[in-house]
Amino acid sequence: MYQSKRKVVLVGTGMVGMSFAYAALNQNVCDELVLIDLNELRAKGEAMDLNHGLAFSKSSMKIYSGGYSECGDADIVVICAGVNQKSGESRLELLQRNAKVFQSIVEPVVNSGFDGVFLVATNPVDIMTRITYELSGFNYSRVIGTGTTLDTARLRYLLGEYFNVDPRNMHAYVIGEHGDSEFVPWSQALLATKPIADVLKDNPNTYHIEELQKISADVKNAAQEIIAAKNATYYGIGMALVKIVRAILSDENSVLTVSVRLRGEYEQKDVFMGNPCIINRGGVDRIIELSLTDEELAKMQKSAKILDNSFKGLSL
Ligand code: NAD
Repeated sequence: MYQSKRKVVLVGTGMVGMSFAYAALNQNVCDELVLIDLNELRAKGEAMDLNHGLAFSKSSMKIYSGGYSECGDADIVVICAGVNQKSGESRLELLQRNAKVFQSIVEPVVNSGFDGVFLVATNPVDIMTRITYELSGFNYSRVIGTGTTLDTARLRYLLGEYFNVDPRNMHAYVIGEHGDSEFVPWSQALLATKPIADVLKDNPNTYHIEELQKISADVKNAAQEIIAAKNATYYGIGMALVKIVRAILSDENSVLTVSVRLRGEYEQKDVFMGNPCIINRGGVDRIIELSLTDEELAKMQKSAKILDNSFKGLSL
């Protein structure tokens, strides 16, 4: 991996990809940003547009569109490319088409000599990350997905509002599939260092478990609510991608709920799902296995089964 300049290649310059690129520019997260898309003209236009904003930013980032040979000396390849559901198409058929899209991306990235970290945002993100892992042959530590990073941020924001505490002092995670079977292990949730269960016990007239359950349901439904209002979600995930990219490039050892390959945690192997991990320059440094209750462990295992079954239904 190059240490001198921080180079990121973005594959897929749609709404999510460009929200990432725009946030990356404004937060000056790397020195070089390359844009790749099947639609080369679009990638070129997006690079021009961002470059025209450089004069107004604090960044002197080099931004240009290019081809897969640019990945050879990159630190991170961010994949936001994907195709949309056609009418009448099943989830599995869509997944199969996106698997084809990923074949056309991961192969040339690997052939370029890329030796960095793959970061996937395309949905269903846990399965697309596993596909990237299988196609690339990379070590599991260097293939991660956005997982439940954004869901966790949404959870902390809502908990912060509910308890009237800075979200950064609310320690709680959304784990499992980025989707219907994701959940909040409340046994692990803390306000500062105090378990939320104790906060509820000490304040029975102020805080209620039903309201916490509504918060976790709101987190799960947030994407659908945004899609109903404006057809797609992109700013939040773009900023989540910047956070993960910075954790890697700055060797932060930050804890983020990325989609990661489990290797025995929760009695699960091979499946990729959202779980707190320590992220640094090498990608996933460590997976933090949470001490779940029996009920939470059953939820995690159910989520893993759903993801494993979807993956095994694919022909790669
Ligand atoms: P979009 O349609 O705006 O952009 C997709 C881009 O991918 C297009 O520019 C298209 O040309 C490109 N593309 C398609 N096939 C390609 C190929 N073979 N090679 C290179 N580029 C190719 O879609 P979007 O709104 O940007 O969403 C992108 C993905 O991100 C979707 O799968 C979406 O579901 C997902 N997403 C994930 C999260 C998350 O939390 N992980 C949140 C929001 C959206």
